[in-house]
Amino acid sequence: MAIIGIDLGTTNSLACVYRNGKAELIPNALGDCKTSSAVSVLEDGTVLVGAAAKERLVTHPEATAASFKIWMGTEKRITLGDRTFKPEELSALVLRQLLADAEAYLHEPVTEAVISVPAYFNDDQRCATKLAAQLAGLTVKRLINEPSAAALCHRYSVQSGDGLRMIVDFGGGTLDVSIVDCFENIIEITAIAGDNRLGGDDIDRAIAAHFCKENGLVEERLDRALRSSLLHQAETAKIALSSAPAASISIQQDEFTYSLVLTNPLLRRLCEPIFQKVREVITRAMRDRDRTAPIQDVILVGGSAQLTVFGDFLQELFGRRPHVAAAPDEIVALGVGLCAGIKERAEELQDLVMTDVCPFSLGVATYSHAGDKTPHMAVLIPRSSMLPASRQERFVTLHDGQKYLRFEIYQGEGYFASENLYLGELEVRVPPGPAGRHSALVTFTYDIDGILHVAAKSSGGDCRDKLILNPNLHLTPGELDQAMARIQQIQLAAHDSQRDQALLDRALALYERCRGRNRDLCGELIGFWRQVLEQGSRSSREQNYTEVKSRLDWLEEQMNQDPLEDFWRDTEE
Ligand code: ADP
Ligand code: MG
Repeated sequence: MAIIGIDLGTTNSLACVYRNGKAELIPNALGDCKTSSAVSVLEDGTVLVGAAAKERLVTHPEATAASFKIWMGTEKRITLGDRTFKPEELSALVLRQLLADAEAYLHEPVTEAVISVPAYFNDDQRCATKLAAQLAGLTVKRLINEPSAAALCHRYSVQSGDGLRMIVDFGGGTLDVSIVDCFENIIEITAIAGDNRLGGDDIDRAIAAHFCKENGLVEERLDRALRSSLLHQAETAKIALSSAPAASISIQQDEFTYSLVLTNPLLRRLCEPIFQKVREVITRAMRDRDRTAPIQDVILVGGSAQLTVFGDFLQELFGRRPHVAAAPDEIVALGVGLCAGIKERAEELQDLVMTDVCPFSLGVATYSHAGDKTPHMAVLIPRSSMLPASRQERFVTLHDGQKYLRFEIYQGEGYFASENLYLGELEVRVPPGPAGRHSALVTFTYDIDGILHVAAKSSGGDCRDKLILNPNLHLTPGELDQAMARIQQIQLAAHDSQRDQALLDRALALYERCRGRNRDLCGELIGFWRQVLEQGSRSSREQNYTEVKSRLDWLEEQMNQDPLEDFWRDTEE
């Protein structure tokens, strides 16, 4: 049974399988390897995932969600129609769709996956991702950092040489920067830095805000659909600017038309605050690398890395224009696919070694003396330690007769514990005695997935450890079953019906373009296909799909290849 690799993105998600000696992207029912990470609830309660859902952001914003990955691991709840979802539940629905498409493509059940996460995801976000996979019925074989996956693909597929490289992954909602040392068959991640709330979505919002300012509109007062449409147009215009000098945006409200012409210089100005944050992250990564050898190469990954203005900005920063990876939005998925291949012990990948580092420091809150009121961090595992990492430290009692030692666990770089992310706590009992007599040994283990395990043992005897981690993300088996049932109950709009509908839409569009004999042929195909869709069984759809599709392909080829000849033939008749 295949293990699939999944790039669960903020904007787009991809699935990949390793077979016949290479990583192969898995197309969805629409034949597209990218599935929009968007979920929409239909009137009858079934759920749409992917491009069709993304379109409903504009038409049915109250029943549709996208970019929910940025809420993973938080308490945020998202209401779609009359149902409320946790971010990991929405991610689980995206995973279920990817899974269904993979099973249809591979003709076998899929239960195991390697999933990529932003390198800068913290413990809660990683646990939420694992939970999402469990809810979708998947066993996670490994969580891999997105830039590490990109590095793996770049090293293996592009056969790039030895040396130090920087990988900048600038997507829809996250920025990840990592520094990778490649030497022979070893890929060593030496430093990572990032921002979980920075990406192309912010650029779209900056454009929309500027649009409103210029047109004297108050963004918050626009209705939801108009706002979605504005953001959608902002994104389209932004992308268009990579190949055109200008792009326009316009919306209509109360019979007035408002518009804006976007150009690269204007976009650059709007992006400046965002790029300054990118600059900080890059600087942080450079400071953290343990080798001061020069960077040989900067590789740009992710959708937003394709922006012309982003390239310009980096060129000014580095003095040289970095090159955009061959397939910037597929490289992570291909790397995750390779990682799945390594998990399956594919022979050709056997001697590939990849090491990763932890993005955050981990420690416990500790008091310097008995009167100390503000605990600070005692760091057990400093950031950029190589994974897996395990460290121990002994802590003693501070008061006479103290009955237990309590450890609050934090993740982050702040000096005071309260400045960091609270992960959970652990308590061990100690026998009574004077201050400093008894102690406990705390062990932190940071596993290869970047998830923390903590244990503590008291000197006083065999006291039991108790770890209380974020209860929303660490469900009991009973709770997990319930949560899973809730997600599995939801009907995903049949993926073949999306595919079949798309084929009909394509035929209808072609019909408008055709004339004469081709139009008749196209009309016959439409009539036939509609009949199959309305009356046919599932198996008759399956049987006829390929036939109808290949006839349409043929017609389309006719139309595209020789319009002039077609024209003469049409008019002769
Ligand atoms: P994620 O990994 O976050 O899911 P992607 O790497 O697929 O996201 O990037 C999505 C982001 O890239 C979106 O904000 C989208 O607007 C932007 N994007 C996609 N294509 C282009 C392009 N050609 N030029 C500029 N931005 C792009
Ligand atoms: Mg991505």
